[in-house]
Amino acid sequence: MANALEGSSARPTWVEIDLGALAWNFRVVRARIAPQVRILAAVKADAYGHGAVACARRLQREGADWFGVATVEEGLELRRAGIARPILCFGGFWFGQEDACLQHEITPVIHRLDMAAALEQAARARATTVAVHVEVDTGMGRLGVRYDEVAEFAAACRRLESLRIEGLMTHFAAADEPRRDEFTRQQIARFRHAVEVFRAHGHRIALQHLANSAATFALPEAHADMVRPGGALYGLWRDVLHPKTKPIDLRPVMSFRTRVMLLKRIPRGETLGYGCTFKAPCEMLIAVLPVGYHDGYMRVLSNRGKVIVRGKLAPVVGRISMDLTLIDVSRVDGAQVGDVVTLWGHDGKLSIPIEDVAQLAGTLSYEMTCGVSERVPRIYVSEEVR
Ligand SMILES: *Cc1c(COP(=O)(O)O)cnc(C)c1O
Repeated sequence: MANALEGSSARPTWVEIDLGALAWNFRVVRARIAPQVRILAAVKADAYGHGAVACARRLQREGADWFGVATVEEGLELRRAGIARPILCFGGFWFGQEDACLQHEITPVIHRLDMAAALEQAARARATTVAVHVEVDTGMGRLGVRYDEVAEFAAACRRLESLRIEGLMTHFAAADEPRRDEFTRQQIARFRHAVEVFRAHGHRIALQHLANSAATFALPEAHADMVRPGGALYGLWRDVLHPKTKPIDLRPVMSFRTRVMLLKRIPRGETLGYGCTFKAPCEMLIAVLPVGYHDGYMRVLSNRGKVIVRGKLAPVVGRISMDLTLIDVSRVDGAQVGDVVTLWGHDGKLSIPIEDVAQLAGTLSYEMTCGVSERVPRIYVSEEVR
């Protein structure tokens, strides 16, 4: 851990991505589902900020059957990196990307008939057929064909001879919320009915899939042919899974670290940072950190966040600025310039769960990992034996 970026001349602010933990979490998911159920690993949004290529490579080795991305561009990045397994593009494609999908075998999720027709035409022009998945909107209200409009859609797709509906999917709105359990069951029922409608129209559906992380752990009846976990693979679960699932041995994959760049002693009564929001109640030792909200350490954590230095928790003082953050190290014995500081994740025996930081920031852990900017290098480690 202390060696990351050592010997390099880079600014010492990085996220450490533990691919061993990623593999562990994949195995935890694998153990939760029947052997014939496939796993689609959601690696959209650069694997929730963890780095899509490195994560997909490792998950492919662990046996991930499919990968899920949000855009065709994300799918192409995986193909360029040599990912060979099927890739499902949740967001479909934009007009003009049909050939890219066909050529690089990126399977789009279809939400609109005109998109299905455009893709089919591109396939016909290449004298080939194209497989797609169709999303059924059973209550999320976002993408997908509305559950009460699937009959027309299924009928129209029959006329697209070079298009094959390989999969049907839906996405849960609240599989993690006990007070929405009834709604989730309704989503499942609507989906099952939609599958029957497609079958009645002569479509042979090879893959049905519904479950995100929360449903993978809480709803075995929604496993169907494939599950689609994202957050759980990255060890994000305290604010993701259904409460009835806990506790569970999923391990955090990302730790956010930096190093002390300057130490200063300040007298009682002095203020710190923009807006002078912190006033020293006594003489204090303050450390300046080369990390700020541009890096993804959110400004809302000003005067609220805590970090780990030398095995102790140290509070953030004053406003977090774009590139810099101040912490109070008055109670950290022997604090020095160069000390490693952990903003979230684990450091020896101590850890700061990212879900706790997210709660403090009023958001979801996903937004925190996705928010780590491109300025912050991802350093991959693999602590195999656990
Ligand atoms: C992001 C996503 C998932 C994974 O969701 P998690 O809550 O991270 O497990 C699954 N399916 C679809 C369609 C998604 O967009």
